[in-house]
Amino acid sequence: MSRTTFISSMALLLLVLSLSACGGKPDTVAPAPAEEAGHDEAGHSHEEGEEEAESTTIKAAMAQQAGIVSAPVQAGTIADEHEVQGLLTPVDGRVAQVMARFPGPIRTLRANVGDRVRAGQPLASIDSNLSLSTYSVSAPISGVVLSRQAQVGAVAGEGTPLFEIGDLSELWVDLHIFGADTQHITAGVPVTVTRMTDGVSQGTTLERVLPGTATASQSTIARASVRNDDGLWRPGAAVKARIVVAMQPADMVVPLSALQTLEGREVVFVRDGDKYTARPVTLGARDATKVEVKQGLRVGEQVVVEQSYVVKADIGKAGAAHEH
Ligand SMILES: [Zn+2]
Repeated sequence: MSRTTFISSMALLLLVLSLSACGGKPDTVAPAPAEEAGHDEAGHSHEEGEEEAESTTIKAAMAQQAGIVSAPVQAGTIADEHEVQGLLTPVDGRVAQVMARFPGPIRTLRANVGDRVRAGQPLASIDSNLSLSTYSVSAPISGVVLSRQAQVGAVAGEGTPLFEIGDLSELWVDLHIFGADTQHITAGVPVTVTRMTDGVSQGTTLERVLPGTATASQSTIARASVRNDDGLWRPGAAVKARIVVAMQPADMVVPLSALQTLEGREVVFVRDGDKYTARPVTLGARDATKVEVKQGLRVGEQVVVEQSYVVKADIGKAGAAHEH
């Protein structure tokens, strides 16, 4: 008996609505132990080549409405990715102290912590005890006032720091890498840095792996730079980063969103016209977005790559109604 079922548009719509009501997230796919072919407590079998596969039929218009998208299986690459954490710091040499040149009482201070200042902009005036005239102290570089270390009326000594200014238009990202990864991760590889605060990401390149190991954490620092166009990359803030070390080619690759588990096996849904059939697959390497398929598919077959859980739920529904 065929397990193929036709379901009405309304039924699928209700299915989609009920799934989205409880989060609508696809199942977390964990490597499942391969089940013996032919075994099933309900009595139907999974033998290869058997016609009686687990399938359902969804008309194209309904599939579109439910957001079900399929794409051909293709060759691709699987990235060797490392998820690491790190810290934003100002770039060395881009922080400047604003100093009093001559000793004397501070008459005015014209900037506060957080202010953006331009190179040459006057930041303080000081009554010089030497010349008995007032002189102006200006910003040596453009940047943001990181700290203000003096009070109006206080007497500045020669070389007293008044402000610290940082050019934060670019920041270093110091990433912590551990153990054998320090041999593995080298300069020049792509890095995606993500802010913890709002999840905004930026692509950059690993510039160097610093010599030596921090004794406390036993980590090695791998350094990249990020542009700080929006000013929201803040020195001292923690970030996470994904370092892509290598890409390995694979004959067949599907997005992780294509994977579902059905009766304990990892499957994808192969579309033939309006018919969707669960196909057990043997998986290889995976990265953050995709997985290598070693067995179970052929290049060019149409596989559901979006909303695969809707197809799974539909097959499950058909199975529940099915008499054995
Ligand atoms: Zn690796």
